[in-house]
Amino acid sequence: MINYEEANKIILRELSKITKRIIEVDLQDCLGRTLAEDVFSDTDQPPFDNSAMDGIAIKFNENIRSWSLIGEISAGNYEHFELDENSCVRIMTGGKMPSSADTVIPVELLAEYGKRISLLSDVKIKKGTHVRKKGSDLFVGMKSVESGIKIKSNHISMLSACGESKVKVYDKLKIGLLVTGDELVEISEIPLGDKIRASNLYTLLSSVKESGHEALSFGLVGDDRELTEEKIRSALNSDIDIFLTTGGVSVGKYDFVKEILEQLGCETKFWRVNIKPGKPVLFCTFNNDSRSKLVFGLPGNPVSAFVTFNIFVKNNIDKYFNSKENKNIIAELNDDIRKKDRKRHFSRGILTYEPSLARYFVSDAGSVSSGNMASLSKANCLIILKEETSHLRKGEMVECIKI
Ligand code: AMP
Ligand code: MG
Repeated sequence: MINYEEANKIILRELSKITKRIIEVDLQDCLGRTLAEDVFSDTDQPPFDNSAMDGIAIKFNENIRSWSLIGEISAGNYEHFELDENSCVRIMTGGKMPSSADTVIPVELLAEYGKRISLLSDVKIKKGTHVRKKGSDLFVGMKSVESGIKIKSNHISMLSACGESKVKVYDKLKIGLLVTGDELVEISEIPLGDKIRASNLYTLLSSVKESGHEALSFGLVGDDRELTEEKIRSALNSDIDIFLTTGGVSVGKYDFVKEILEQLGCETKFWRVNIKPGKPVLFCTFNNDSRSKLVFGLPGNPVSAFVTFNIFVKNNIDKYFNSKENKNIIAELNDDIRKKDRKRHFSRGILTYEPSLARYFVSDAGSVSSGNMASLSKANCLIILKEETSHLRKGEMVECIKI
């Protein structure tokens, strides 16, 4: 049995053999995708000197406190005015500054008497205030968004300002999923007798989508060797990049997923990792002439399937595609957590941020046992308890994986 770090190294090594396909998409369609190019500004931002306030634009002279109004400039409606030290123009936020003006005085500091505008008594002004200078935010040719970021709405602001109506992003990976087990029924059915709903199928399909990739369902199959083999063969021959199965990778009599995968030409890279939950996880590669694949045989327990997807599949894909993102958070533990074995545990936790202390805190969301779905739905992170740890005390700092 290998450990967590070794397992991740093997996965990342195999994953990096998958070619990153670059495609161009409309800006509206790039949310959640990974930027595959550095983006440079093609204009200065702001493109011209402009007013940061509603007020008047003047040519500063510290001895002058009153001006005659000679015109008006609103945003997008520039008109040329030649100012001397005794004249001003009314200017609105975003309005282009007349070249002869250097200072803006906000309307709140002024009194108006017809065409005469004066500073309120006691108000002091400084040369150059409330003017946003051309290029002060970005200048032509400056790198504004870096390749490797996962695009969120705040990046869209910058990409649109740079005129990127089309963006180069990495194409989504196609990730197929098959769930196995005689006990499984569709979630629309009421499970009778010894049956359970195949919740893993939906959890993992949405986990794949949430991670920004394309999910493809191969449905569910009972513990029937021939039918399972048929389903796996069709998945391996499809155009997916990664194939996920759940169930049937442990040591039970009907756990034949590993055997079938190997028989169909998959090469096992590891089986079983020293972790909890999720120990029976299997990782293989499948090389054929068309599209090579990675195969993850995840355990059937819903929590194990979810945890192993996050720590092995999602985290490594993120590392490979979104080199700029560091997901793990260091937080102060609110509870004592004990463990008896020398496995690495991924315990469900509830992470909160305390702005007044600028620090994260994490509480134990419940059992590490594999089947505890209730604690999983309360959790927003996985607390990492390293192999050698037997007791983490309240107040200690721990590493958490956001989920
Ligand atoms: P297995 O890994 O096949 O031994 O399954 C381990 C446990 O997970 C068993 O209790 C199964 O009933 C349960 N299980 C397997 N597949 C699923 C699934 N798709 N959804 C929910 N539970 C499952
Ligand atoms: Mg099973």
